[in-house]
Amino acid sequence: MKKLIVANWKMNPATYAEAERLAAAVLKTSKKLKNVETVLCPPFVWLADLSRKHENEIAFGGQDVFWEEKGAYTGGISPKMLKSSGVRYAIIGHSERRRHLEETDAMVHKKVHAALKNGLRAILCVGESLKEHTRGETKQVLRRQLNKGLAGVRALFIAHRALLRNLTVAYEPIWAIGTGMPETPFSANKAAKTIRQELKKLLPDKIAKEIRVLYGGSVTSRNIFGFLVMPEISGALVGGASIDAKEFGKIIAIANLLSYDRLS
Ligand code: PEP
Repeated sequence: MKKLIVANWKMNPATYAEAERLAAAVLKTSKKLKNVETVLCPPFVWLADLSRKHENEIAFGGQDVFWEEKGAYTGGISPKMLKSSGVRYAIIGHSERRRHLEETDAMVHKKVHAALKNGLRAILCVGESLKEHTRGETKQVLRRQLNKGLAGVRALFIAHRALLRNLTVAYEPIWAIGTGMPETPFSANKAAKTIRQELKKLLPDKIAKEIRVLYGGSVTSRNIFGFLVMPEISGALVGGASIDAKEFGKIIAIANLLSYDRLS
């Protein structure tokens, strides 16, 4: 299976001209890499334009999505709106949104359902805080976030088998995001295993086995190899390093080399 590398540009860059330059520079590298799946998630203001321009060259994702289809929801962007702009993915429940915008598990749940129902590929972010990590509560946090975020998705998957590959889970320990202190590959793999076990309780076995689990948190070209060789980790969610085209190019080149398609 191809490794999945998702670039979360967050609230960067500051101008459209810079966003265009960054996308063009990434495309130059990604076009040559056939074994890795790369997804760019620019801010919404640049997303529609970049996606329409380049949707045949690279996949795009929103950094969020709202759960309603349309109506009086000022600032909201619906799954249908994203899809009609050629956007295929949506990051949901990122810890920065949970923290700064007080997004709850209940809101995350509604977003995951809306995204999947509309054929968007949902990247559900889960992960523990430093406090929870030091208290040894990682497993409980992951279980809670997955159970609440994915409540009722079994029915959705059974009704629409084609949605099988549309759910991805990103394990992002909050204390590792943007700190330059990544989790160790071994511990990230252990957390990914917990996620897989939980998915098996929530979904039919065959489906749970197929869902990709990514690692996110201070990923760079120097440490990506260690994460991608772990058996439970299918890719990475990259923040800071994704807005440096050269650095991100190295990350996707390494992922390209490690993709199963190439190895098999
Ligand atoms: C993220 O934004 O999801 C992330 C993992 O950021 P960083 O790579 O900068 O830690």
